[in-house]
Amino acid sequence: MTSYPRLLAPLDLGFTTLKNRVLMGSMHTNLEETKDWNRVAEFYAARARGGVGLMVTGGMAPNREGGVFPGAAGLFTEADIANHRIVTGRVHEAGGKICMQILHAGRYAYGPECVSASAIKSPISPFPPKELDEEGIEKQIADIVTSATRAREAGYDGVEIMGSEGYFLNQFLVTHTNKRTDRWGGSYENRMRLPVEVVRRVREAVGPEFILIYRLSMIDLVPNGSTWDEVVTLAKAVARAGATIINTGIGWHEARIPTIATSVPRRAFAWVTKKLMGEVSIPVITSNRINNPQTAEDVLSDGCADMVSMARPFLADPDFVAKAEAGKAGLIAPCIACNQACLDHTFQGKISTCLVNPRACFETELVVAKAATPLKVAVVGAGPAGIAAALTAAERGHSVTLFDRANVVGGQLNMARRIPGKEEFDGLVDYFVAALAASEVDLQLGVDATTQALKGFDKVIIATGVIPRDPCIPGQERPNVLSYIDVLRGNAPVGKRVVVIGAGGIGFDVSEFLVTSESPTENLAEWLEEWGVADPAVARGGVHPEGPQPEPPVRQVTLLQRKAEKPGRRLGKTTGWIHRATLQMKGVKMIGGVNYERIDASGLHVSFGETRENPTLIEADTIVLCAGQLSERSLADALIDEGVEPIVIGGADVAAELDAKRAIDQGTRVAAAL
Ligand code: NAP
Ligand code: SF4
Repeated sequence: MTSYPRLLAPLDLGFTTLKNRVLMGSMHTNLEETKDWNRVAEFYAARARGGVGLMVTGGMAPNREGGVFPGAAGLFTEADIANHRIVTGRVHEAGGKICMQILHAGRYAYGPECVSASAIKSPISPFPPKELDEEGIEKQIADIVTSATRAREAGYDGVEIMGSEGYFLNQFLVTHTNKRTDRWGGSYENRMRLPVEVVRRVREAVGPEFILIYRLSMIDLVPNGSTWDEVVTLAKAVARAGATIINTGIGWHEARIPTIATSVPRRAFAWVTKKLMGEVSIPVITSNRINNPQTAEDVLSDGCADMVSMARPFLADPDFVAKAEAGKAGLIAPCIACNQACLDHTFQGKISTCLVNPRACFETELVVAKAATPLKVAVVGAGPAGIAAALTAAERGHSVTLFDRANVVGGQLNMARRIPGKEEFDGLVDYFVAALAASEVDLQLGVDATTQALKGFDKVIIATGVIPRDPCIPGQERPNVLSYIDVLRGNAPVGKRVVVIGAGGIGFDVSEFLVTSESPTENLAEWLEEWGVADPAVARGGVHPEGPQPEPPVRQVTLLQRKAEKPGRRLGKTTGWIHRATLQMKGVKMIGGVNYERIDASGLHVSFGETRENPTLIEADTIVLCAGQLSERSLADALIDEGVEPIVIGGADVAAELDAKRAIDQGTRVAAAL
């Protein structure tokens, strides 16, 4: 008897049956743009082998003007169709099913050719769209229909029509982007004409036995978004027009409310999809921040949906479903919703991968094969870099001993997991514990690896991490000064007025820790209130008329950096704004361009600019040092002195800009090449 009876139950669509209720949601990975079709095929085939019921590709442009960026992939030529056949063929061979997403970006298309309902520029794009005339609208519909028929020719099992997240079809639905007065604007019936017409004509063109998913924005999270009545009206209309399944879209890309970041509670929007259950007779899929089989099962058993979409969890672990089926959910590498290697990469034009699984999208490049000659390998340091190296080396058949001075594994992850909104790091540490236990790695915790002991190994990998940088501020030895480690470990009390020195990732995290009493990520009602999310049946678009209602801060915090730029500018591309907004909501003062003069009993004395002007005392009870990191290389250096050449990875190798993404990637690659 499986622990996930609903999740693993088949879903009969009439003309075809999905083997379970798990959808791998669409992700733009930039893989298709590599034009390495073997690589694209292997990415999807690996997930098909891992047992997912249905997959949706990254968004394919129906035409040049609708591409998310210039050169975005699409099915434009016979050669494109042939290339996509490589993908669908490989997926079918692996027993999977795959739909192609058709994504027309409308005014979100990053180029001067972009088009929309009205010529209103989006706040997240520099390009004002051209308002389409009747002929232009007909062309867009025809291009979407052609794209769908080509998808069928290319062997796809269906298409997903992207109608949410503020893209083209969504732009016709709401009055803040559609000011038209013709038959495509004005009344709701007119505004929804385009999406319904698209579904009707696609169905007509592809015939009855082809999956047609319509991704519908159920809560826009922008002012003047759709009302709940409008959402239901549209859902019924697209179902009548021929959709097979309705998938949930949450929030426009320009929304200032987080929807998928790690600080968003798990299943935070399943209640929205639940409101649609019973309104339409076709299956409904829910989505967003569902990252393990139990949460997915709970969502289904609570009647929130007929099927669950998870996207990033399939970057983290292609075998998600197979492991759930085998009763090995603890061995599923969890998506921690950090966006660091997936969305942040996509937006930088890089190929997406995954912080916890650097093989994602690199399946054909980063191969973990059995070693020709098994070696005796020592890894020192059970943080992310060391664990990744140890697990990969053991998978290859090497005999691995992993040492750590601490009594627990995880290294710096044990700091991160204490930050409100970073509770997902708990799951990552738990996963590492389970994966190490299930591996052949000999884990030696509470052990100081000596140079003598390490001489008995064929290869020594040093992953001893980092130590805090000393900022050398006069007075920093005073008792009112703490390191971030003391604060996060609770080693010393922190006063009510705090100055945080250093506004990097850790300075932001520590500030969040200091102003928050209970993490709203653990309490959905509080989180919704904090970000001003309302029931779309009560407030248009689900935006609370009074805006965000955060809990008052528990401390008064000032966050400082020496650089004259905006603090937090270097945080993650897709998540930095959330950290900045969170601290702003909590009244944290963020100041750049300061010089640290001295610390005394009354606080921190600073000055400003190169000429050290405007000497100012920032009164504080506690000053917390978050001034960056230096590599901990003492063991590596001692080994070199004794003639052993270690392989140094992670923070011990390069401390600057260190994060778990680089650490895990380097650990995996080094072990894959041993
Ligand atoms: P960091 O991001 O490099 O930031 C170090 C901070 O210390 C900067 O604000 C820097 O700003 C300041 N600083 C540097 N030298 C200093 C000195 N001598 N005296 C005083 N201040 C100094 O390092 P971190 O905050 O320790 O984070 C470590 C790594 O973990 C980072 O790479 C980060 O990406 C990662 N991380 C990321 C996140 C996240 O994205 N949310 C969270 C936690 C950690 P000035 O030089 O301008 O003063
Ligand atoms: Fe999830 Fe982070 Fe991996 Fe993206 S990089 S899939 S958010 S764990």
